[in-house]
Amino acid sequence: MTGAMRIPALDTLRTGGKRALAAALALIETARGTEDLADLLDTAAADPKAHVAGLTGPPGVGKSTLTNALIRDWRSKAETVGVIAVDPSSRATGGALLGDRARMQTDPDDKGVYVRSMAARDRLGGLSDDTVAAVALMRALFDRVLVESVGIGQSEADISFAADSVILCVQPGSGDSLQFMKAGVMELPDIVVVTKADMGAAARRAKSEVEGALTLFTREDDWQVPVVLVSAPTGAGLDDLHRALADHRAHLGETRLVARRQAQEATWVEESIRARFGAEGLAAARRLTLAARGPFGREREIAMRLRAALHSAGA
Ligand code: GDP
Repeated sequence: MTGAMRIPALDTLRTGGKRALAAALALIETARGTEDLADLLDTAAADPKAHVAGLTGPPGVGKSTLTNALIRDWRSKAETVGVIAVDPSSRATGGALLGDRARMQTDPDDKGVYVRSMAARDRLGGLSDDTVAAVALMRALFDRVLVESVGIGQSEADISFAADSVILCVQPGSGDSLQFMKAGVMELPDIVVVTKADMGAAARRAKSEVEGALTLFTREDDWQVPVVLVSAPTGAGLDDLHRALADHRAHLGETRLVARRQAQEATWVEESIRARFGAEGLAAARRLTLAARGPFGREREIAMRLRAALHSAGA
């Protein structure tokens, strides 16, 4: 069976263009649990290139519009961009919001940008295993990776499982900042964008509300969360957002960046095992000494060994 699935090497993907990447991303969904796929993903995870930004916020706040603007800016500086748009609607309704996603407009002839929609799952608060794997892969291939997901209330947490820098979008006059404060969501973003800054006074008021809300939380690191006013259609504030992203990346440095990614990987492995084998399986997994080093290999090894233990217990 495995013979039918040809898992490419990472180097092949580096030179193979969009078609090869699309095929590899499809394999993430179909070849799960195979050694070759785990090897590819671990090779990619160990050789990261991109700064991964996560963009989240409620529907209608302006995420797709902002994503388009960011893609345009990055491409104009010859930076390559991979985008993963997490589609929450596919969970319940089979993709009612995909029309929304179609608004992400990229030049099909531009080899330097790749946009992929992925279904959300009821795991990691909405980010699927496949999304985490796709981020690991695209992170090794592009200069920039942007993960875009709808977040409402607690599900804003989603994106922190996959992003180096989390951008939370709120819009003027929405009361979003108060809602987020109640939900405890203000602890999560590294940058807050007030969208639709062309709305003038309402936008400035939203900015000061958010700044007020942020003072109620103390972060473990000493990062001051910037609140940036952006109007995607006019381009106002986009430079401030680029600066905020660069500042946050500089703040992470190598040490915090590596620690953040390792914590994400560990969470991913644990959540995956918990989903498949429950709390008892996870407890048993913690007692195992593993041969595999990378997160995808570790997850695969744990799953195989727990399954073997289940079978021998049942026999
Ligand atoms: P998403 O659901 O978060 O992806 O939001 P969209 O990007 O689809 O934007 C929702 C609506 O807000 C659309 O009608 C956009 O044209 C509009 N919009 C987005 N950004 C801005 C902005 O900066 N200013 C104004 N005035 N409208 C915006």
